[in-house]
This record gives sequence, structure tokens and C-alpha cells, in this order.
Amino acid sequence: MTSFNHVTSEHLSRLTAIVTADNISTSQADIDLHARDQSFFEARPAEVVLFPTTAQQVAEVLKLANEARIPVTPWGVGTGLEGNAIPIHGGILMSFERMNKIVEVHADDFQVTVQPGIGHQDLNAELARYGLFFPPDPGANATVGGMLANNAAGIRTVKYGASKDNVLRMQVALADGRLIHVGSRSVKQSSGYDLLHLFVGSEGTLGIITEATLKLVPVPVHMSAVVAAFPSVESAVETVVAVRGSGLDPAALEFVDAAHAVMLSQSDGVDLSEHPHLFMEFHAVHETVLNDGLEMVREICDEMGAISFRATTDTAERKRLWHARHHSYEIMVRSHPDKQFFIMDVAVPISAYPELIAYVEQIKAERNIAAYLIGHAGDGNIHVELPFTPGDSYEKAMRANHDIVMKALDLGGTATGEHGVGMGKVKYMAVEHGGALDVMRAIKRTLDPNGILNPGKVLPE
Ligand SMILES: Cc1cc2nc3c(=O)[nH]c(=O)nc-3n(C[C@H](O)[C@H](O)[C@H](O)COP(=O)(O)OP(=O)(O)OC[C@H]3O[C@@H](n4cnc5c(N)ncnc54)[C@H](O)[C@@H]3O)c2cc1C
Repeated sequence: MTSFNHVTSEHLSRLTAIVTADNISTSQADIDLHARDQSFFEARPAEVVLFPTTAQQVAEVLKLANEARIPVTPWGVGTGLEGNAIPIHGGILMSFERMNKIVEVHADDFQVTVQPGIGHQDLNAELARYGLFFPPDPGANATVGGMLANNAAGIRTVKYGASKDNVLRMQVALADGRLIHVGSRSVKQSSGYDLLHLFVGSEGTLGIITEATLKLVPVPVHMSAVVAAFPSVESAVETVVAVRGSGLDPAALEFVDAAHAVMLSQSDGVDLSEHPHLFMEFHAVHETVLNDGLEMVREICDEMGAISFRATTDTAERKRLWHARHHSYEIMVRSHPDKQFFIMDVAVPISAYPELIAYVEQIKAERNIAAYLIGHAGDGNIHVELPFTPGDSYEKAMRANHDIVMKALDLGGTATGEHGVGMGKVKYMAVEHGGALDVMRAIKRTLDPNGILNPGKVLPE
């Protein structure tokens, strides 16, 4: 394991000279606020929190930290679910909350250039005036930097892709203090190694994103929401495969198990029965296209034995439904005030989705585990939410997590569809990637020879 140095008073003076006195803090409140993300991993304090305001400052801090062997952990807004932004080796925590501007809207090119600390919801609120939006939607108001670093996805990925599919160019600060550009504003790119996508998903372990040009799409003119209830998990999950196989192009296709459906009914204006449900959304340029598509979805759901089917083009109703889905985590936490939560994330090829879900249901039943299933079913991604208390139920939750990850890998899937590796999935990297893990280590050594960038994440130490 790499050994690091502590931040001394001399380092603090030099860091202050780089970011200015207003943008550096060693206060306990700031250290505590940036010591843990939304995962269940325990808090680990940094020694100093920086709030850089320019890319140049970021680069200069990295140069200093690299020479002094001080770890640097970037921080978006701390909504990560695998401990991705926890500064486990102390050192410098670099928060991007003050680099949160839109640099330029290139409306005619359907692009926007932003600083990394802007929240994607704040960005979309600004872009609405151009009739455009940035589609990846992880629910929480995650920052663009955190989304690109984790390759976040969410409910719209089934149609619009993950963060990696919606970025064209980035400015990145390297560990040695160089500032480079990767990618270009051209939608087609065939020049050289694809460094853009090397940094996307690297969780701040290879470089720090200081600016990004994102792809945008027009806000759809016509949208509809569909909610269908099914008699069994199997019929709901088989319907996912049928809808995907039909050639329909859902903008969201979400699976919610019966227990979760009941919980979501605590939300205003949402009334779901205690059955497995599918939530879908469709976007179209013309109402006729939308209605024809909805008719097809209804037929598929009927054939698969749906016990209720409701489609709506009413904006308020659609928003109520998705609001409940987006707040499912908070609703669940409120419903279990005495518990902690572990939200696990795996993804498999769509044809293997029914087998994966059947496996989760089987271990739930056999081991008497209270777990809730909610997932971006359209792209083969499931989250199993495991409430626990320290002790026995924690051990059970961890064992279930392990077995589900191994099953997903066995089915040709991945240990993480969208939450990233962070601390929680490090132990599966060798199983999933085999010899490719050595190549990842070699890349890490080349870009960050002293291992200062977000150490302890992605690669086993
Ligand atoms: C209720 C809830 C629902 C969620 N739903 C989803 C979902 O549907 N889909 C999904 O994908 N995720 C989901 N997430 C997880 C989370 O929102 C994403 O992982 C998101 O990308 C984290 O963004 P953040 O700004 O909070 O980053 P942080 O958590 O602060 O950081 C995430 C990672 O990015 C690195 N990082 C941050 N900024 C930079 C930068 N400028 N340069 C380099 N590295 C950087 C950090 O070091 C860390 O490794 C959910 C989380 C919650 C709490």
C-alpha cells in the first residue's frame, strides 16, 4: 500500500496561496460534511477541504499534492452509494461546489460546456429555456463531475444512454499538474486513443474533471407514463424483455416489487396495489406515434397477464408518479426509522434479467431477508435495497450482496451497472476483469505514479 504524508502547516500556507483564504477550510464542520457519502461506509475525515474556483487552481493543487505525496479526493455533492468520494486516506478533499457554472450553451449544436460542480437538475432548469436537456438522471441532484466520474446512469438510460454516452469533451487536471483536453466537440470522433472514456467512470482515480462539454437533446413534445401491475414478479420481469424485444423505445422502464409499490403509495396522488409493477415512460414527436406505441404496450402487458394497466399523458399525473419513484429511497428510509440501508447495484444482459430476479427472490425467501427490489429493468439493472441493523442482519445483507454480485457475474453481467466501484466493489474487480485488471493498474501507474488520486477506490490496494 502506498504511504502518504500528512498536511502540514506549510502545506496549508501554500494551498491557501493557490485557492485563496476564502476557499480553504479545516473547520470540523467542513471536515465532517465531507467525511462520508450516502453509502453505509463509515466516515473518514480529510485533513483540509478545498473549494477551488478555477481549473488552474485544481492543477496547481495536484502538482503540490503529488510532490508532497498527499492524497486528493474529489467531491461532487456526496450522493455516491459505494463510498466513492470518502477520503479514506485523509489528505485533501476537493469540493467542486464553487465550480458550478455553465461556461457556454452551444444551442445550435445541442451541446453545453459546464464546470464540474453544477447539479444536473440545476443544469436542466437552465437549459429548459432553450428547449434542451441533458438526459442522464440519477435522481439525486448529483453534479456533472460526480456523474461523469461514476458514469452515472438512471431511469432514462434505456433510451438516452449513461453519462459516458452524453459527453463529448472534457478538460482534465492530471496528478502532475498538467491540464489536458480529451475528446472534441465533434459528435463523430475517430482520432487517437479514446482518453475521454478512460477518464469517464474512473472515479477521480486517474485525473480530475475541470470542465465538460455535454450532449443535449430536445425536450420531448409528447410524453406519456404507463403503470402496470402484474400477478407475479416473473410476469412483470418477462414483460420487460417483451417490451424491449418489441422494438418500442421506452424512455424509462422500471421494475418495482410489491412491497416497494405499497411504500410508494405513501406519496401524494400515487395509489398502487400490493403487486409487482412496471413504470414506463414514452417520448414522441407526434401524438399519434405516442398513442400507437401505448396501444402496443397495452397489448404486450395484457398478453403477459397484467392485472391493471394505466397510461396517462397528463403532465401532473406523470410527474407525481416519477416524483414518487425518484423519492423511493427517502420514502423507504422514512418507513424504517430504526434501520440503516445498503443499496446494491448489479446489471446483466436483458435476457438474463428474469433469472437474476428469480435468484434474488429465492435467496430472500430461503434466508428470510427483508429486501426491496427496484431497478432500471429496461437496461438489465437491479438495485436490491437491504435494510439492516448492526449484527446478524448486517451479516445477512452482506452475504446476500456477495451472492447476488457473483450471480450477476455468472450471468455475463457486471458487479456495478451505475454506482461505480468505490470501496464496496473493489473486491470483485479481479473476478470481473481478470488479466485486464493488470492493464488498469498499469494505466493508473502511468497517470498517477504516486497514487495520490482518490486512493483505495476502484483498484484493490
Ligand atoms: C437517492 C439516490 C438515488 C440514486 N440513484 C441513482 C441512479 O438512479 N443512477 C445512478 O447512476 N446513481 C444513482 N445514485 C448515486 C449517485 O447519485 C451517483 O453516483 C452520482 O454520480 C454521484 O454524484 P455526486 O455529485 O454526488 O458525486 P460524489 O458522490 O461526490 O462523487 C462520486 C465520485 O466522483 C468523483 N468526483 C466528483 N467530482 C469529480 C471531478 N470533478 N473529477 C473527478 N472525479 C470527481 C468522486 O471522487 C467520487 O469518486 C443515487 C444516489 C442516491 C442518494
